[in-house]
Amino acid sequence: MTSSRTNIAASLGPGGEFDIIRAMAARWGARAVGLGDDAAVMSVPRGDSLVASVDTAIEGRHFRREWLSPRDIGRRAINAALSDLAAMAATPLGVLVALAVPTEWRASLLDIADGINDALTSAGTVIRGGNISAAAELSITTTALGSVHRALTRSGLRPGDRIYVTGELGGPQLTIDALSDGATPPELALARFVNPAPRLAESRWLAARGATAAIDISDGLGQDLRHLAAASTVRIEVDLQAVPRLPGVSARDAVVSGEEYELIVGAAGELDVVGFSRQFGIPLTEIGRAIGLASDGPGVDLMEGGTRVAIPGGHDHLSN
Ligand SMILES: [Mg+2]
Repeated sequence: MTSSRTNIAASLGPGGEFDIIRAMAARWGARAVGLGDDAAVMSVPRGDSLVASVDTAIEGRHFRREWLSPRDIGRRAINAALSDLAAMAATPLGVLVALAVPTEWRASLLDIADGINDALTSAGTVIRGGNISAAAELSITTTALGSVHRALTRSGLRPGDRIYVTGELGGPQLTIDALSDGATPPELALARFVNPAPRLAESRWLAARGATAAIDISDGLGQDLRHLAAASTVRIEVDLQAVPRLPGVSARDAVVSGEEYELIVGAAGELDVVGFSRQFGIPLTEIGRAIGLASDGPGVDLMEGGTRVAIPGGHDHLSN
C-alpha cells in the first residue's frame, strides 16, 4: 500500500488521490475556506484568546461500522471535537481534519465528507485544512479552533458552587447495550448516540449568565465530575436521583454513559433553568454542589437518600 500525505487544496495537481480531495472539497462548498494554501490563517477578535483542541475517532475504538453510517461517523467525529470548544464556551473559528483511510473505506469518503459538512453547518463553522493518508484502520483526527473572551475551565469551581448538567443522559450507553445484544434501541436513545450535538450556543449562554466552570461529558458523568473536582480541588456532592435521564435509563446507567457531549457546568449563583430550556429546548438540571475539602481529597460523593453510594465506573480510553 502506498502511503501518501498532502494538504487538502482546491488547486491540486492531477492524480486519483487529489481527485478524491477535490471531490470532498466540492461537497463542502463554502464550508471549505482557504484550502489552497499551506496553512490556515485566522483572525481572532481583539481581546479574545485562541482556543485549540484535538480529538481522534478510531474505527473499532470510538465507533463501529456496523452501528453507524459513514455519514454518521464523519458528523460525529467533528461534533465530538467541537464539544471541547463548547466546554470552554468558545466560538468556533474552524476545524482541521486529518483522515487516515484504509483502501476499503475509500468508496465511503464522500459520505464521510457529507457528515463533516452536516456538523460544520449545524455549528456555523468551516473546514480550514487537513491531511489524508493511507492507513490500516480508519481514523479521523479533528483539530477544533475557536476564540473566547473568558473561558469556562475545569478549575473554575469554588466550594458552594451549584453544579448543573445540560440535556438528558443515558442514550449512548442504552444504545450500545441494545446493539451489543442484537436488540433495537429506543428511538430517542439511538438519536443521542448517532447524532450528539456540541452545546456551543448553550455554553456561551451559560457563561454570560454566571457559569465559571465546565467540562463536556465524554467519559461519563461520574468520571467527568471527578476530572472537574480534581482540577478545582473540591469535592462534588451529587444527588443521584436528580441526574436527568432519558426514559428507560436508570440513574446509575446515566452516570456511566459516555460520549454524551452534554455539559457539566458550575456557577456561584442560581442559573435560569427555565430560561435555558425555553431558549434551547433541552433541560438544564441542578444535580449537586461543590464543597470544600475535609479529610478526603478532591472527588465526587454520589448521594442517594442521604447515603453515600459507590460511583459506577466510567469509560477510560486507554483501558479495556
Ligand atoms: Mg472534553
